[in-house]
Amino acid sequence: MKTIVTDSPEEAASFILSGETAAFPTETVYGLGADAFNAAAVRKIFEAKGRPVDNPLIAHIADVGEMGRVADFSPKTAQHLAERFFPGPLTLVLPKRRDVPPVVTAGLDTIAVRAPENEAARTFLRACACPVAAPSANRSGRPSSTTWQAVLEDLDGRIPCVLRGEPSIVGLESTVIDCTTDIPRVLRSGGVSLEALREVVPDMQGPQDHPGGVPRSPGLRHRHYAPAARVVLVDKAPSIPPHKKAGYIGMESPGEGTGTAPGRHWRLVEQVATPQAYAHHLFDFMRRCDAAGVEIIYCQTVEPTGIGTAIMDRLQRAAKGSTGRRRS
Ligand code: AMP
Ligand code: MG
Repeated sequence: MKTIVTDSPEEAASFILSGETAAFPTETVYGLGADAFNAAAVRKIFEAKGRPVDNPLIAHIADVGEMGRVADFSPKTAQHLAERFFPGPLTLVLPKRRDVPPVVTAGLDTIAVRAPENEAARTFLRACACPVAAPSANRSGRPSSTTWQAVLEDLDGRIPCVLRGEPSIVGLESTVIDCTTDIPRVLRSGGVSLEALREVVPDMQGPQDHPGGVPRSPGLRHRHYAPAARVVLVDKAPSIPPHKKAGYIGMESPGEGTGTAPGRHWRLVEQVATPQAYAHHLFDFMRRCDAAGVEIIYCQTVEPTGIGTAIMDRLQRAAKGSTGRRRS
């Protein structure tokens, strides 16, 4: 299959309208979309990504008014959250409408819905004129794609179209909230912080607060966000032994002889000024490390508040899922 790269949201939408897939930019990460009402088209997403079929997708809509096409939007908390955070990096899990095919939600009777803020995404979704089911546009298990080049790196020849846009501003996936329980709860940390959510829903449960045995977001079971290099988390950057086949990302300087450019001791360095910049660069840095043959990526931990909660979630899961396939 030939993959075309286009700057036209309308051209990308024409693939969705003809039952194909298309990758598109959003503020969180790039998505790989298909018409949510076309089961055969949605199956192509799972095939292209090698995604386990028990991992449900997020339905993307251009405007909050389209919520009722896929979900029961009656829970009041969901309406308040949408009012405050849509469009933006927030996903609401709600009761699913029966006419959405089961493949979208992996057979669940709930559906995850999000309205992205990115202008190209909104123009694309309006041109599709249907809810677009989309997970992140990467091969399953790999770091999510935050640039159109990263989409091609993973999916060139496996999907028909990529809508070229800016690098994703946030750089990490959306916050997923279960709105089907009396007290809504965060299933996955992401672009909207728990602190911000609690300004609207003060008793919102954090990802750690679920009483034992609460079913979590199915996607959290799978290996995720893992580059080929081994990921090692460190609290203090300067304590890291320099290593020529290592990369480093963090807020502190990685020590002598490096600065922010790749130095004598490091293959690649990304020193970030803020947690927001850390989130923005993280997945792209992991991919650059893989391309440069890095064997170990040292990632400095951050305070688990604000966007830091999502950064720590991704770092911990990348470290857990990393096999160190490059380790000699
Ligand atoms: P991705 O877009 O690749 O980050 O994957 C979508 C995420 O949303 C996965 O972690 C899914 O488990 C989660 N998700 C999608 N639908 C549901 C749902 N109905 N209930 C809970 N989590 C969901
Ligand atoms: Mg994903």
